Amino acid sequence: MRTPIIAGNWKMFKTIAEASAFAEEAKAGSTKAGVEKVVCAPFTALPALGQIFAGTDIALGAQNMHFEEQGAFTGEISPSMLKEIGVKYVILGHSERRQYFNETDETVNKKVLAALKHDLLPIVCVGESLEQREAGQTATVVRTQTEGALADLEAAQLANVVIAYEPIWAIGTGKSSTAEDANETIAIVRQVIAERFGQETAAQVRIQYGGSVKPENIASYMAQPDIDGALVGGASLVADSYLQLVNGAS
Ligand code: PEP
Repeated sequence: MRTPIIAGNWKMFKTIAEASAFAEEAKAGSTKAGVEKVVCAPFTALPALGQIFAGTDIALGAQNMHFEEQGAFTGEISPSMLKEIGVKYVILGHSERRQYFNETDETVNKKVLAALKHDLLPIVCVGESLEQREAGQTATVVRTQTEGALADLEAAQLANVVIAYEPIWAIGTGKSSTAEDANETIAIVRQVIAERFGQETAAQVRIQYGGSVKPENIASYMAQPDIDGALVGGASLVADSYLQLVNGAS
């Protein structure tokens, strides 16, 4: 059994005061058991969120990190810095980071290996652009990205990895993939993992869908056999909507 996981990706939104107000509301709201809950916030808000979420089942996530331990990397943050403030998950290889910050499969792979070394759980994003989809390249793109991100991992480490399939054309656009299409591509990602790490490992890896997920459509994704939750941007910014997503995932 794979436990569903709902992770909010706040991107570059929320001051510490705004994040704290969200956390108080989310903490007070009731959620069904059996769904793992994560909030991936800007670095500045993480310590305040950690204090408010202490003793709850809402885990802290970051949205990026460097792969090096420390050094002359102005503006970067290391895995142990995230660990130190109680971060559990880290989003790696989000399409916005690939597009605007030149992340490649190779750097994503280095980050995945560094995260695991520091007991951080990576949420690894893969997904095709609209042009790639229209050119019939979706399967090839997700295969290359999945193989690239997971290069040099041992099968046992896959238990600590979450994959998020996020078609780029569906992120922040309101144009979500149909649940059936998302499931089809996620099944391809699972197949790629099976070829590399074995069927048993692949059957245990959690793979989320991301791209304009909302309280109104979460149930359709969760009804699919290969979809194990969602990575959610816009709809995760309001506590009530975040709680509805969590409740819709169980
Ligand atoms: C995301 O940021 O990863 C995302 C899927 O955004 P949205 O839910 O707003 O499409």
